[in-house]
Amino acid sequence: MASSVLVNAGPAPAAISPTAELPVDRLGRPSRALRVSVTDRCNLRCVYCMPEDRYAWLPRAGILSFAEIDFLVERFCEIGVEKVRLTGGEPLLRRDLPDLVRLLSARRLRERSLTTNGILLADLAWPLRAAGLDRVTVSLDTLRRDRFRALTREDRLARVLTGVEAAASAGFSGLKLDTVVLRGVNDDELFDLVDFGKELGAEVRFIEYMEVGGATRWSMDQVVSRSEMLERFRRRFGEVRPLPGRGAATAERFELPGGTTFGIIASTTAPFCRACDRSRLTADGVWYPCLHARVGTDLRRRLRGGATAEELRAVLASRWRDRTDRGAEERLAGGVLTPPVLRAELAADPRLEMHTRGG
Ligand code: SAM
Ligand code: SF4
Ligand code: SF4
Repeated sequence: MASSVLVNAGPAPAAISPTAELPVDRLGRPSRALRVSVTDRCNLRCVYCMPEDRYAWLPRAGILSFAEIDFLVERFCEIGVEKVRLTGGEPLLRRDLPDLVRLLSARRLRERSLTTNGILLADLAWPLRAAGLDRVTVSLDTLRRDRFRALTREDRLARVLTGVEAAASAGFSGLKLDTVVLRGVNDDELFDLVDFGKELGAEVRFIEYMEVGGATRWSMDQVVSRSEMLERFRRRFGEVRPLPGRGAATAERFELPGGTTFGIIASTTAPFCRACDRSRLTADGVWYPCLHARVGTDLRRRLRGGATAEELRAVLASRWRDRTDRGAEERLAGGVLTPPVLRAELAADPRLEMHTRGG
């Protein structure tokens, strides 16, 4: 399927006023959080995300400039977005990223955050903090060098750990470590990772292995479920207390005796679509209402075609009102989880890839 088929480039709906009520989607969900992928390139090749040898990259001319991203973010703020997370690909590969953060600092946002693999974080943690970045999440699947190499195909664990330490000392209001748990690969490190996080003042969140675009090696056998993880913690620590106040957050949080906390993101076995207020913008300006959405809205075409701020805001509001997506819940309700998106389709439309639409 050609990529253009998957992009909704229909006519702009009637303009709405900036003072109009903030839109909610068809399931009553507001639009509060936006993940902005700033590049589809990455300096790792994690087995659960980019296992293939070759990828089709987004053409460089299509990549949004910082000014374009900022302009679009301002429009997203007008439909209710309060939180922006920069992601990728590996977002720190995007040159001068602090400049973008500085632009976003002037926007009416409650939070600017970043998800990174940490390789380039040691040099960038302080400049990003100084530019106004509030929170950082570092993906860290293992504390063992040989495993890191096997999982990512790069021998760079030491570099990541230096990056995590720099982030811990740079004064972000929240540092998190995200771990994708794979059975037989790193599922014996749950307690070690929680201890490591505790020492740094970072909360660890365990992510169930998801069957998303790009995860062409996914199988249910490798998923360690939320309930299995909790059972392991219970066996080891006796009590695991669920913490209240999840709201629309992806992670459920738990507390161990002694006060250590950790999170679980159970996107595969206990998805949370009913509260989902997140959408995603690719580095080339296509907006997806769900991680699993097949059709996106081409905002770059409109932006570069001269659409006014009001026209763009109207497109966002109208599309959000039409949103019915519950991608992960629908997969689960189907009884059997479907096989990963076919490689051929991924090759034809790189925007289906997790590393392109931003995790
Ligand atoms: N490169 C950055 C990083 O790794 O943090 C940001 C982009 S990455 C796509 C964002 C998140 O998606 C990472 O935490 C990664 O672990 C997660 N992810 C990627 N593929 C996944 C999969 N198949 N299942 C669960 N999480 C996945
Ligand atoms: Fe790994 Fe993130 Fe790169 Fe995917 S985008 S391969 S999760 S570092
Ligand atoms: Fe939100 Fe889609 Fe993820 Fe469900 S699958 S939580 S609707 S992004």
